[in-house]
Amino acid sequence: MSVLVLVENIEGSFKKKSFELVQYAAAVASKMGAQATALVLGTCSNDAMAALGAYGAAKVLHVSDARLDKLSARAYTKAVVAAAGHTAAKVIVASHDVVGKTVAPQVASRLKAGLAAGAVSYPDTSNGFVIKRNVFAGKAFAFVNITSDIKVVTLLANSFQVAKAEGSCPVEALSVTFDDKDFAVQVKEVNKVSGSVPLSEAELVVSGGRGLKGPENWGVIEDLAATLGAATACSRPVADSHWRPHHEHVGQTGGTIRPNLYIAIGISGAIQHLAGVNGSKTIVVINKDPEAPFFKAADYGVVGDALEVTPKLNEALKKF
Ligand code: FAD
Repeated sequence: MSVLVLVENIEGSFKKKSFELVQYAAAVASKMGAQATALVLGTCSNDAMAALGAYGAAKVLHVSDARLDKLSARAYTKAVVAAAGHTAAKVIVASHDVVGKTVAPQVASRLKAGLAAGAVSYPDTSNGFVIKRNVFAGKAFAFVNITSDIKVVTLLANSFQVAKAEGSCPVEALSVTFDDKDFAVQVKEVNKVSGSVPLSEAELVVSGGRGLKGPENWGVIEDLAATLGAATACSRPVADSHWRPHHEHVGQTGGTIRPNLYIAIGISGAIQHLAGVNGSKTIVVINKDPEAPFFKAADYGVVGDALEVTPKLNEALKKF
């Protein structure tokens, strides 16, 4: 019996969310007296795969067909189902991103498994298999008990801290037969990064709203982000006005992020914006209006002009 974890292979390497996922699967496995097997699809070096052992994988299964370098729902589903059978997997874990959202429902359907999408907790196995998951765009949580024999879970990134240990694990080749139809449709994800840190992975995010007045003032956001090593984000009207690119827009109709620190500057805190950021561990708000709704969701707040407060905050942080 095993917990199978589909690890996203991005051009032969793994990102932080993959390590979090493996660590999560290993913890679930240990709760169940099982082992975590990582499944890697497409071209990847043995060293990179073996290193997943440092995050708790007992073994890596590698389906090396180079056509899997690009996400194809049908081929990925086939590979996951084959690996699940090979390892007698009782739990299958994937990330709640484009890969997991594409593959997990199809795998669940093929294996007649229950699916908890957008999980933010370990399962409570004291009375079933109960998982806490985000619902209504992050405005509420639901606790779902998966009663099927096989369970499928997609995990929201940044739900847990990643802790690396020493170690590596064996890599075993898994042969899966595909036909051309399996690759007839490919899902393409375009990852755009404005600064040096991808927004979906970032632990620190500096975000700006219409209170910044115009794109010419975005230097204060970028300077603060550079000092902190943070990613930059924005509210929807900012992206709609082309002050910032659309991939930075967070909220109900944009990205959902769960950084350790979210600094919201000149953003009112409308419910549609909060839907994308209210999973942040700590929220800091800078707004000139003390009645701005964002202050209700904030851990720390500064009432003041963004264009005065932000550079001062930046100068103060540079001294650390
Ligand atoms: P504003 O509402 O204009 O607020 C600007 C804020 O800046 C104010 O609080 C003001 O006090 C403050 N301010 C002004 N000047 C300064 C200054 N000099 N210094 C400091 N503070 C200052 N929005 C999103 O962000 N993401 C979404 O995904 C999203 N989806 C939506 C979906 C739907 C169906 C709908 C109807 C709306 C959606 N919206 C979304 C829009 C949302 O309702 C708000 O209109 C939007 O979030 C407001 O953006 P803002 O806070 O930047 O601008």
